[in-house]
Amino acid sequence: MAELKTGTIVKVAGPVVIAKGMLGSKMYDVVRVSKHNLIGEIVELKGDTASIQVYEDTVSIGPGEPVVNTGAPLSVELGPGLIESIYDGIQRPLDELYKAQGNYILRGSQLPGLNREKRWHFKPVIGNGTEVSPGDVIGEVQESSILLHKIMIPAGISGKIEELNEGDYTVEQKIAVVHSGNGTHEIKMMQKWPVRLGRTSKKRLSPNAILQTGQRVIDTFFPIAKGGTACVPGPFGTGKTVVQHQLAKWVDADVVVYVGCGERGNEMTDVLTEFPELKDPRSGEPLMKRSVLIANTSDMPVAAREASVYTGITIAEYFRDMGYTVALMADSTSRWAEAMREISTRLEEMPAEEGYPAYLAARIASFYERAGRIDCLGKPEREGALSIIGAVSPPGGDLSDSVVQATLHVVKVFWSLMARLAQQRHFPAIDWLTSYSFYKQYLPGCYKDKQEGLEMVELTQQAMNLLEQESQLAEIVRLVGSEAISPADRMVLQTAKSIREDYLHQNAFHEVDTYTSMEKQFQMLKNIIHFHGKALEAINNDVETADIFKLGVWEDISRSSFVPEEQIEQVVKIRDKIDEQIGSLGAVKK
Ligand code: ADP
Repeated sequence: MAELKTGTIVKVAGPVVIAKGMLGSKMYDVVRVSKHNLIGEIVELKGDTASIQVYEDTVSIGPGEPVVNTGAPLSVELGPGLIESIYDGIQRPLDELYKAQGNYILRGSQLPGLNREKRWHFKPVIGNGTEVSPGDVIGEVQESSILLHKIMIPAGISGKIEELNEGDYTVEQKIAVVHSGNGTHEIKMMQKWPVRLGRTSKKRLSPNAILQTGQRVIDTFFPIAKGGTACVPGPFGTGKTVVQHQLAKWVDADVVVYVGCGERGNEMTDVLTEFPELKDPRSGEPLMKRSVLIANTSDMPVAAREASVYTGITIAEYFRDMGYTVALMADSTSRWAEAMREISTRLEEMPAEEGYPAYLAARIASFYERAGRIDCLGKPEREGALSIIGAVSPPGGDLSDSVVQATLHVVKVFWSLMARLAQQRHFPAIDWLTSYSFYKQYLPGCYKDKQEGLEMVELTQQAMNLLEQESQLAEIVRLVGSEAISPADRMVLQTAKSIREDYLHQNAFHEVDTYTSMEKQFQMLKNIIHFHGKALEAINNDVETADIFKLGVWEDISRSSFVPEEQIEQVVKIRDKIDEQIGSLGAVKK
């Protein structure tokens, strides 16, 4: 092992420590700072002077104290035991630390990311003597009741596998050896990966499917793809937490990684107490059985926030590499950017807009670029996908903020949460006029019947059209009153209202309404648009709009969101009722 470099602190500026005598160090090497052994990372090197961002409180640390370079980059431990864990930004298990130390984590605490004592039942899936290379799946561990953990050959190792046996092992025990020309490598269930480096894949593929969420406004109008990226701003009280919980519950992903990055302390506490109580509605199991939480509250040191995003994404990529669909939610990336700004200021770098470093946009882009659908490395052939949903919380909800703008440049979906809608109790408060998604072309793929898929696209376009017309007409009505607009336009207002209230509005707390399948979304939207078409025909035949507005079938339309999935036929039948009731008006036309 290379000799560890030891330098001396010359200056401490908040989370940044400057040390001399660090010749031979590399950028991003992890160091232990002072006699308290605080964990830090080298972020700038000039000659023998290193600037170090420290992940723990630097109070009472001063010049003259030692800095020891560990010679390794900041890495995460990957293997069985990740699922159900709650980590801090540098993968220290918060629950274990809590058990050991209580509410306050002692500085310099060193608990490994993966439990060293726990034994996991490992089952090989290939035979001894097989030639293996990085990424090959050699065995499996049933990590939780819903997650099968695939054990893969780590980077840099290939050759013939031997001594591969089923059994109960800890993550550090040898489960096999690989013989190659240059020696013998022991394989363990745990591997490490440097967090700042994206994990390798065979090939990047473009997204081709929608990550279904059961949330109508999202799936129908602003869908996110498997392997896609989305951004959601969260002004206070707009239902951001509910949206995130709904996604965590319903998203059709195998694994969910939630990075709580420096939100107000109490908000994170909510996540930590509420999240473990959420149930996976499909399996009835706790949601944690497919989740990993990374938690950094704003009272934790700023640099740890910076790291938490990377720790989270690396863990997410690892599950993606097993061939899973993974969703990573980061809340809030604004706090992460603020951490970057603080470190940059301490490094005395030249500030760009709003004091953020000039590399802000590049960092944000390279984070979101780690999302994607991929051909996984190794055998058997498998595809994995990692979607990133990043929350942003600009000061005062101002969308011209640098972080929001840099994010919007790279993400393909924007769910615009509006305080105005939340005040009207329209939830989810995702504004249909300003939100967008570039993945709409994959919507037909959600439907087994191709024709139905194409029809759904048509329906969403018509619905959006009506909503846009509504906003223009609303302006006219405000100026001259509803009497001044044509009956057809009055019908547009009525149908748009129905789209908003009966379709886009969705009650997260209602047993049935909380989730809507793609098929039911299709049937519900089809009813509304069908009604509109029939109503316009009737208006053309001089039927009064007032009579149309009085029809009883509106009631059925507005209740369809509460019709259980198993009774979807009832929703389909509403169309016959529409025809019947509008038809009866035609008979009495003037
Ligand atoms: P934020 O995290 O943005 O401050 P919350 O997610 O806590 O806001 O939401 C505030 C309140 O809005 C919730 O307590 C709930 O009453 C209501 N709410 C938000 N979303 C929904 C929803 N989809 N269905 C019903 N109520 C909702």
